[in-house]
Amino acid sequence: TTYQAAEDRYENLEYRRTGNSGLDLPAFSLGLWQKFGTDYPADVQRDIVLHAFDLGITHFDNANRYGPPHRAAEKFFGTVLRKDLAHHRDELILSTKAGNPLGPSPYLKGGSRKSLLSSLDHSLRDLGTDYVDIFYSHRPDPSTPLEETVGALVSAVQSGKALYVGVSNYPAETAHQAAELLRAAGVPLLVHQPRYSIFDRRPETGGLIKLAAEDGFGLVVYSPLAQGLLTNKYLDGTIPAGARALNSTFLSADDIDDTYRERAGALDEIARERGQSLAQLALQWVLRQPQVTSALIGASSTWQLDHNVRALEFPPLTDEELALIDRHGIH
Ligand code: NDP
Repeated sequence: TTYQAAEDRYENLEYRRTGNSGLDLPAFSLGLWQKFGTDYPADVQRDIVLHAFDLGITHFDNANRYGPPHRAAEKFFGTVLRKDLAHHRDELILSTKAGNPLGPSPYLKGGSRKSLLSSLDHSLRDLGTDYVDIFYSHRPDPSTPLEETVGALVSAVQSGKALYVGVSNYPAETAHQAAELLRAAGVPLLVHQPRYSIFDRRPETGGLIKLAAEDGFGLVVYSPLAQGLLTNKYLDGTIPAGARALNSTFLSADDIDDTYRERAGALDEIARERGQSLAQLALQWVLRQPQVTSALIGASSTWQLDHNVRALEFPPLTDEELALIDRHGIH
């Protein structure tokens, strides 16, 4: 079937300015980390990506590693880009990352110039595009001089292969150094991509949110639903067929224990008092921070997308509610 983009696609979502840049990102971005490899039906994957675009989700987050196997998610996205979204390339923000290990070769891991720039070329081939919008250093590499890693990001922009650069999983101190080096090179740091959710407060406690305001970069926060733990799907103690806790190496059935159920149950209660779901509460909670430009979500169905993007349709969280969420969200 031929894809026709929804005409009202820019009427649904909020677009938020990324730090001090000129770039707006949708409040919700779609990540292709899991279930976008050969592990899930390609027609369902395609429906999810195209439905996201119809909803106004312009930002798609990839990495060289996403699959399984490695590189499969970018290859899949490349087919959709070629077949369905070719006319919309100017409306898309595509990101990719390099620096996490892909294999035993010394050049398929780490933050060297070699590793980052060859990976970017490979990603561009797999995606079938001349440039990505955002190129990330996927994780800090203390064994490589930060100047070298940052220099590779600068080269990516100067060669026209990326429009903006980002870092991911960098502690605040290293992120600040990277921001200074990038500023000096005339390629300001656009975004940092940390993990952030009601269950993971490190961007608050580690100073990253404060630093984002000072250094003028945005935050695109990943796993805001704690991979599904901050939804109601695991609340009744059973794990539904097909859920990530059953078929991922990153989330396990052992995570669904009594302590979890007690905490998530209490949070679900707060959400229900507000007339929303736990997933919607969890997304609204990360987006309450002005420094958070976008909540980077995963989805295994179009239903999940429709449900999750409604998270900002509820009244702002009150101080009392925030305090209650802290009581159950922090262990
Ligand atoms: P989330 O915390 O949003 O988890 C998404 C998963 O939760 C879905 O795939 C689905 O899993 C489940 N889910 C979503 N909505 C609902 C709902 N309403 N009801 C029930 N279940 C729901 O984010 P991810 O952990 O998937 O991460 C998002 C993206 O962030 C990744 O794709 C990637 O792009 C990026 N990321 C970056 C990292 C980095 O190092 N920079 C690391 C990790 C992620 P299911 O239905 O399969 O159970």
